[in-house]
Amino acid sequence: MNKIGIIGGGFTGTMTAVQLITKSTAPFVITIINERETFNKGVAYNPYSDKHILNVITGKMSAYPDNPDHFLDWVMSRHEFQDRDKTLIANSFLPRKLYGEYLTEIWAETIKIAESKGIDVNVIDSFVIDLDVNENSVSLLLENENNLIFDECIIATGNQIPRNPAVINNEFYKSKNYYQNPWLIDSVKNLKNDLPVLLIGNGLTMVDTVIGLLEQGFKGEIFSISPNGFNILPHRHNGLKYNKLTEELTDNLSLFELVRLVNRHIKTVREYGVSAEPVIDSLRPHTQKIWKNFTDSEKELFMSRLRHLWGVARHRIPLHMHDKIQKLQIEGRLHINSGKIIDITESDKFVSVEYFNHHDHKMHTLNVSRIINCTGPETDLMNVEKSFLKNCLIKGILTQDKLKLGITADTETFQVLDPQGRPHTGLFTLGSNLKGELWESTAVNELRGQAEKLADKLKVAKHSQEVKNAETL
Ligand SMILES: Cc1cc2nc3c(=O)[nH]c(=O)nc-3n(C[C@H](O)[C@H](O)[C@H](O)COP(=O)(O)OP(=O)(O)OC[C@H]3O[C@@H](n4cnc5c(N)ncnc54)[C@H](O)[C@@H]3O)c2cc1C
Repeated sequence: MNKIGIIGGGFTGTMTAVQLITKSTAPFVITIINERETFNKGVAYNPYSDKHILNVITGKMSAYPDNPDHFLDWVMSRHEFQDRDKTLIANSFLPRKLYGEYLTEIWAETIKIAESKGIDVNVIDSFVIDLDVNENSVSLLLENENNLIFDECIIATGNQIPRNPAVINNEFYKSKNYYQNPWLIDSVKNLKNDLPVLLIGNGLTMVDTVIGLLEQGFKGEIFSISPNGFNILPHRHNGLKYNKLTEELTDNLSLFELVRLVNRHIKTVREYGVSAEPVIDSLRPHTQKIWKNFTDSEKELFMSRLRHLWGVARHRIPLHMHDKIQKLQIEGRLHINSGKIIDITESDKFVSVEYFNHHDHKMHTLNVSRIINCTGPETDLMNVEKSFLKNCLIKGILTQDKLKLGITADTETFQVLDPQGRPHTGLFTLGSNLKGELWESTAVNELRGQAEKLADKLKVAKHSQEVKNAETL
């Protein structure tokens, strides 16, 4: 029987397994390796707070590409939502924990389907520490020292913890007052109020961390430092669809032409008191194609000059969260700075941060009790310590794209490419590992489609292999 292994059981690994099991017409063995606590949920849907909410409305969070209301219908079927207005719920932002429950329930239903089809499902509570590609199989070494061999293996490792920003003295990163992983509750617990806390980064994770700190009763000041210090934007025009820009999109638009086009449309909508959001959102279904058409130097230019602006325009927060963040700023409890951290030193009294402020062009010193890294997932796999992906890069099993955003792969078949650009027949990847290939490959909106497409490809590959085997007999 065919043996399929999936490394990582967050949204992507779970939904790939769900699609494979649902679509399968023959028994096979499927094994998912993921620690128990985050299985089905991954980083995003296993938050430490109920106040950490989805950044996409309920109506757009279905786990299935061909059933857009699946999440909404699941929510409305729950006891606590039965008297609520469906349109309001469809347009609201619900807790990420609830989404984790949704995925766990989908998985429970899938197990029943697997049993009825004679599919053997294994979930292993461990961590993959090495991977090798053999002639007709992929072998994995687990942290618990077990070896596993699969005919086909899918890398669905998702979000890596943030990278440590470069500073003069790296020693601080070993301190107990530094939290590299902002998604763990320990990062916001047990703080005294007499000293401020510094959050590095100014995006969605910064907002979650501020909410987490308040929930834990922190009453001191919170500082954030990021290169641009852009204010995070709210969702203001939910549901407003703008089509005029996409009517003018043509194949092979250069970055320069695209920026000019977008700016022209933003100017037009602003004349009517509408913000740039619907213009940016209208590009969303086209961003992968646009990215693929850019030259290497256009991609580099985008990363160095436009990435942060794009991030602010794309990653917005619900209005009530935005109000809270603004209120904290007005009260002087949250200070959002644009700057670059130069050095961090620590005494027995506080952590001292020297940074260059981009507004007044001067060096400043900030004394804080703790630093939490909210810069977002690391994409350069060479910077991820103790990772089988780093080992695979060193061994020449896989390569990174030029911008070090992910793994080089064929985005039609999801096969990982070797350093010579040849696809590995039995090794696949999807999700944020495809960021270098597709740019937008992170949200449920993209991942659910990839999970389904990969399941179809594996089914086709398996079927054609069976036909080939039958012919040679
Ligand atoms: C905090 C946060 C909030 C988000 N909110 C939203 C949202 O509201 N809406 C939206 O559409 N998108 C959101 N996203 C984007 C999110 O990345 C995707 O929606 C989705 O959850 C990604 O799932 P994934 O399985 O690819 O990655 P992950 O969720 O990161 O899951 C990967 C899993 O693989 C496991 N793993 C990694 N390496 C190994 C290994 N070597 N061995 C075994 N297991 C391993 C990890 O432990 C993890 O459980 C959010 C992302 C983050 C980080």
